[in-house]
Amino acid sequence: MDLEHWLGRATRAIQDWADTFGPYRPHPSLLVDDDRLASVFAGFTERLKDNYPFFHPHYAGQMLKPPHPAAVVGYLTAMLINPNNHALDGGPATAAMEREVVAQLATMFGYETHLGHLTTSGTIANLEALFVARELHPGRGVAHSAEAHYTHGRMCHVLGMTSHPVRTDSQGRMDLDALEDVLRTGQVGTVVLTTGTTGLGAVDPVHEALPLARRYGVRIHVDAAYGGFFTLLAGTGGSEALPPEPWRAVAQADSVVVDPHKHGLQPYGCGAVLFRDPEVGRFYLHDSPYTYFTSTELHLGEISLECSRAGASAAALWLTFQLLPPTPDGLGQVLAAGRRAALRWADLINASDALELYQPPQLDIVTYFPTVEPATLTAIDAVSARILADGMNSAEPVYLSTLKAGHEAFTARHPKITADTDGARILRSVLMKPESEHHVEHLHKRVEQLAHAD
Ligand SMILES: *Cc1c(COP(=O)(O)O)cnc(C)c1O
Repeated sequence: MDLEHWLGRATRAIQDWADTFGPYRPHPSLLVDDDRLASVFAGFTERLKDNYPFFHPHYAGQMLKPPHPAAVVGYLTAMLINPNNHALDGGPATAAMEREVVAQLATMFGYETHLGHLTTSGTIANLEALFVARELHPGRGVAHSAEAHYTHGRMCHVLGMTSHPVRTDSQGRMDLDALEDVLRTGQVGTVVLTTGTTGLGAVDPVHEALPLARRYGVRIHVDAAYGGFFTLLAGTGGSEALPPEPWRAVAQADSVVVDPHKHGLQPYGCGAVLFRDPEVGRFYLHDSPYTYFTSTELHLGEISLECSRAGASAAALWLTFQLLPPTPDGLGQVLAAGRRAALRWADLINASDALELYQPPQLDIVTYFPTVEPATLTAIDAVSARILADGMNSAEPVYLSTLKAGHEAFTARHPKITADTDGARILRSVLMKPESEHHVEHLHKRVEQLAHAD
């Protein structure tokens, strides 16, 4: 996609539409001098160079990448109108687009009924799910794995609920015996399961937790902010296929959150929350003297805790899904490439004497650490940190990230390591760009070289 061409088309399309309303003069107070802009813009683009190259396959660090050009074109085109998806009178077109993309997400998760909307983030999407959970089980708390995103503990605090962190197993998944211990206390009303933890990409066993939760009469909320789109690889053919059970079980969960701004090719400002039972809309009801209701259906502003939201986010996701729909043959192919890259790198690390796999990747996040003598957490921590820094500062840079692993989690996976301190940083690469598939050999070679430099 040639962005220069399409951004030109975008401005012309909106100008053509604007022209149908008749001419008017822009107010002099808004005029800026083109020469002044040119000089400010030069400084501005210079400042933006203070960034890491998230787009480049040699960036294999955090969960970051630019949006797809289709999302950029969709966002910018709609932004020229600047609709507000808070209410139908804020922009009917993008409100309709939002309903359509949310329905596509519901289909992807196997929801037969749904009520949902986009949010500005996974944080707000999870907050809304926990808010509804509290309304349905007042006075009861929330259980989530100890490796769930920190937002759950924090939002429980905001909502005045007690959070119960549950121990994880040696692969970073929620331990169901530990979960049952918590459920037996009767203090929990909702279990949060994470399909793709932010650190390790670990997938909680949703299919096994569901019957347990039902037995104790508690709700299930799935935090698929990072991993949601991996549903598209569940039970497909090929080396990248994922075990289908946890993903299929999401269809039975009471609510689910997914971040199109992570694996849905979108710019930041795009999360989503979906409820299986549309009746929960009643918890959002409010009266507003500003908005008027042009429809008898619940409109987006009535089912969202946020007020103003960019209609452009819905437009960007809509245009993207028209071209790369959330299906195994569409967006699924993008995730499949990252998954293959992670499996390939894991094989290379397993065969390496300079690096060791922390645990096998469950999605597209590879975690590993340098082989050091003596094999202590202190040494692993120091060398991991050095590799991270040297990688970024070298003439042939690679960009990684680190993850703090606690000593118990570490020795559960690697009993021979001496736990001389409470934990160690390990290396972590999120391979969320499909191009990673063509660069893992290079990445691996560079990280090996950096490890050998010790
Ligand atoms: C990223 C993430 C969140 C938080 O979402 P934001 O969009 O960053 O607010 C919550 N849960 C999980 C599992 C995540 O990966």
